[in-house]
Amino acid sequence: MRSADSGLGQLVWFKRDLRIHDHAPLTEAARRGPVLGLYVYEPSVVRSSEFDFCHLQFINESLAELSANLSARGGRLVIAHGEIVPVLERLRSLCQFNAIWSHEETGNDVTYRRDLAIGEWCRSHGIAWHELPQTGVVRRLRSRDGWSRIWARRMADAPLPAPATISSWDAPAGRNDSWRQHLAGLDVGILDAGALGVAGVSKPEAWHGGEANARKVLASFLDHRGVNYQREMSSPVTAFDSCSRLSPYLAWGNISMRAVHNAARDRVAELREQQAFGMPVDRRWFMSIRAFEARLRWHCHFMQKLESEPAIEFHNMMRSLDGLREAEFDESRFSAWCAGETGFPMVDASMRALHRGGWINFRMRAMLVSFAAWHLWLHWRRPAVFLARHFIDFEPGIHFSQFQMQSGTTGINALRIYSPAKQVLDHDPSGVFIRKYVPELAGIPDEFLAEPHLMPAATQKESGCVIGKDYPAPLVDHKTAWKAARERVSAFRKSAGPALKDEKKAVLARHGSRKKTGKSG
Ligand SMILES: Cc1cc2nc3c(=O)[nH]c(=O)nc-3n(C[C@H](O)[C@H](O)[C@H](O)COP(=O)(O)OP(=O)(O)OC[C@H]3O[C@@H](n4cnc5c(N)ncnc54)[C@H](O)[C@@H]3O)c2cc1C
Repeated sequence: MRSADSGLGQLVWFKRDLRIHDHAPLTEAARRGPVLGLYVYEPSVVRSSEFDFCHLQFINESLAELSANLSARGGRLVIAHGEIVPVLERLRSLCQFNAIWSHEETGNDVTYRRDLAIGEWCRSHGIAWHELPQTGVVRRLRSRDGWSRIWARRMADAPLPAPATISSWDAPAGRNDSWRQHLAGLDVGILDAGALGVAGVSKPEAWHGGEANARKVLASFLDHRGVNYQREMSSPVTAFDSCSRLSPYLAWGNISMRAVHNAARDRVAELREQQAFGMPVDRRWFMSIRAFEARLRWHCHFMQKLESEPAIEFHNMMRSLDGLREAEFDESRFSAWCAGETGFPMVDASMRALHRGGWINFRMRAMLVSFAAWHLWLHWRRPAVFLARHFIDFEPGIHFSQFQMQSGTTGINALRIYSPAKQVLDHDPSGVFIRKYVPELAGIPDEFLAEPHLMPAATQKESGCVIGKDYPAPLVDHKTAWKAARERVSAFRKSAGPALKDEKKAVLARHGSRKKTGKSG
């Protein structure tokens, strides 16, 4: 780092890294001189179509804790409202600072353009902007070969401790009262959705943000919840407990990927030690933690796709598949899917669970998207924006890549069309999850949970669930829709001809996993 930074004001810009532990920009800045922490509610971000009340709530909970943690160390967090460049201009008119420290962000188009504008502003004002990685995502990656090694290297080091003390710009020495008043004018504090014009409603079952919560969730997963992770992750009956549910904490940076990875590794070492001392150890832990570690790598593997090709936020990863679904979009099907009113119990329960808590397990996410793409023949873009708002853990790089994978537009992954009825039989045969989120079905016999429309009229009446009145008839016929989707996609592929094969090689080279057995795509 440039030695010219030393001793002068250092600005630490917090974004999706709302923590003080293992925060390299904060650590580096604090080593060099007085620090001011900055978080900005940017209208272009908080009013974007992917941002929701649930994200703001999680962020605000995280900000309250971050601010307290910085203050406890002598630092200060200023929370501003406005586009970032004017905010920086204002700050600079109050005080000269010569360095901005932040983490690299693999965001959406809005944050990408914002970053370009900041880069330009920093260059024109002679301010150094130090962006440091916080995951395994590699900026300006030349080749996917060797990516896993870089990931492993980054995860190998121990996480950084939080700085013990932070010397603040706001400290009395050298600062007069008028400077502090101006700074206070910029600091709007924590703002609610009304003040920011953020749409959406509160999710009563949402988990809460913050570093302390992230650590608690991680500890409970590695201590007891995760023992059956590998077996129980696919069922929505067990996944709420058996999956780590760390995704929102990783998405908003309440905990670093490296800290999670290190904790998993330490837990395996602890179990091995217990084994070595002849203590009883549940062997399921080893399989479960191995499966968990693989997913931590997938997190960055999928984000890398958006980092390497930002256009996949909007365009098919395989351009030869452009035109597959673009020409039609059935609004009424889309509305029914969004509301959890499709007449397919597992689809509806999963969607309604998202409305209430903002989290659902991987298998149910994949099924929701598969259903939208194949059964309802909806182009992935609008469903992706809709679910971005409903996933508290919305992470653009994972989200758009996964959406394309489940919708069959990457060209490099096997097509997978889930049967929603089979998901009921496999993962919720007695309706524990379904009955909770679709109370209309609470009283129906188990044997009709997968396909309630097959209930005889008398059973419908007896169970208080008349199809078409209390609960919708299925929006489409599964077998017909499944067959039609397969035929359409294979006809389209045929018509695309050899271009498809050629492009597949290029997509694989750019985005494909190099692991022969990896299922991550
Ligand atoms: C259509 C679709 C959209 C998705 N959108 C998001 C999103 O916006 N944000 C998000 O964090 N995850 C997303 N996922 C991936 C995955 O479903 C979630 O990460 C996972 O369900 C979160 O629960 P968990 O924290 O308990 O995960 P665990 O199973 O405990 O895994 C630990 C961590 O590994 C990562 N991870 C797990 N599974 C995957 C995966 N398949 N791909 C990439 N990373 C993974 C996550 O960071 C997760 O927190 C999406 C999946 C699908 C099918």
